[in-house]
Amino acid sequence: MKAFLTYVLGPLLVILSLSALGSLAFGWVWGIVILTVFMTAVVARDSWQLLTLKRWLERHHTETGYQLGGTWNQVFSRLYRLEKHADQTQHKLREALERFQLAGATLPSGVVIIDTSDRIIWCNPSAETHLGIRLKQDRGQSLTYLVRRTDFAAFLQAPSADGLFVLNRVRGSDLSLSLQLVPYSTGERMLVSHDITQIERDERIRRDFVANVSHELRTPLTVIGGFIETMMDGDPLDPATQTRVLTTMHAQALRMQHLVEELLTLSRLESQHSPAPDIPVRMTPLMQQLLQMGRHLSNGQHDIDATCTTADDILGSEPELLSAFGNLVTNAVRYTPPGGKIRLLWHGDRNEGVFSVQDSGIGIAAEHLPRLTERFYRVDRARSRETGGTGLGLAIVKQVAMHHDAKLEISSELGKGSTFSFRLPIARIATNLSETPTE
Ligand code: ADP
Repeated sequence: MKAFLTYVLGPLLVILSLSALGSLAFGWVWGIVILTVFMTAVVARDSWQLLTLKRWLERHHTETGYQLGGTWNQVFSRLYRLEKHADQTQHKLREALERFQLAGATLPSGVVIIDTSDRIIWCNPSAETHLGIRLKQDRGQSLTYLVRRTDFAAFLQAPSADGLFVLNRVRGSDLSLSLQLVPYSTGERMLVSHDITQIERDERIRRDFVANVSHELRTPLTVIGGFIETMMDGDPLDPATQTRVLTTMHAQALRMQHLVEELLTLSRLESQHSPAPDIPVRMTPLMQQLLQMGRHLSNGQHDIDATCTTADDILGSEPELLSAFGNLVTNAVRYTPPGGKIRLLWHGDRNEGVFSVQDSGIGIAAEHLPRLTERFYRVDRARSRETGGTGLGLAIVKQVAMHHDAKLEISSELGKGSTFSFRLPIARIATNLSETPTE
């Protein structure tokens, strides 16, 4: 109301008053002339301000530099506020869109939007990787054309109640995907994919492990059970047979005990998440201990020696290192025919310390080398059993190596022998703690 009085009624009354005064003083013609002149001035001013506003809207609508008069100032500032608000809203929308795009791009799960005929509308980069889609080219393409599997097509046609489906061996690879189909909006569905390859692999390893342990325990248990049944059902055994039976049963019981001990060692090592302690482990006495152990196992059948070419020691866990190195020595004795040579060596340089066991034994064919440290993997199952092996020794060595940031290297030639090297980084080496190097 105030604005109406100030900007409309006020000026109008002034003009009319001036025109009335003009009529009274100079006659009605002058009154009309005065009215026409002032009204024309008002119209010209407003047209000019309208033009200025138009220019501002076209070019500089975010600047406040324009000064217009009267009501026009109010129109201008109102428009300016509206423009500013629109700019801010647009900015926020742009930010939200960018955030959404970034989230879609970095999401580890794949997301594909498909229509009712399974045609691709949109997907994120993870879905491109999972399902082999190239969005730029494949937009509008049927998903079942890209993933050509009847079980997948059937799933898209009639999803299960929970909308879940596992797709194994996707596109001939070992990729396993867990898929979920979610209603999205009218005529559109969202397919969410998760890479479960590792979970499936772990599950397979767990199943194999249980099967292997059961198999390993079944053999000695069958032998012991069979003997017990014979002794219970039949006539009493003569003393010689009884001794033989009991000796076999005892050996089988020891075998099971050994297997359980190794399983416990492995499980303890695998459940450790912190690195091995930094306690100095003196290598000279450890090498002596390993040498004695090897000679005892060999029972004079091999030529075994031990050499330390460095006075450095290891920072780590002595029981674990003794168990790992002991396993390597035991294997060397077990897989080297009588008369063979076994050499234990502790050496190092500025970058590392290396414990190695070299033998002139049966050797290992190249194709077996990558799998040797798997639990229960053996080149020759029968030979391993004969010599009291469990198939867990090298798996234990590998765990101890990982726990000490070390690497286990195996080089071997069939029929010529093998070298197992336990390479420790310099951070695991304590310099010059031992006495002088020994041979
Ligand atoms: P095992 O108890 O059967 O010896 P390991 O895990 O210690 O189990 O070793 C796995 C397999 O690696 C063995 O079964 C054997 O075939 C092979 N192997 C290990 N050490 C040697 C070696 N020094 N010479 C030849 N073969 C070896």
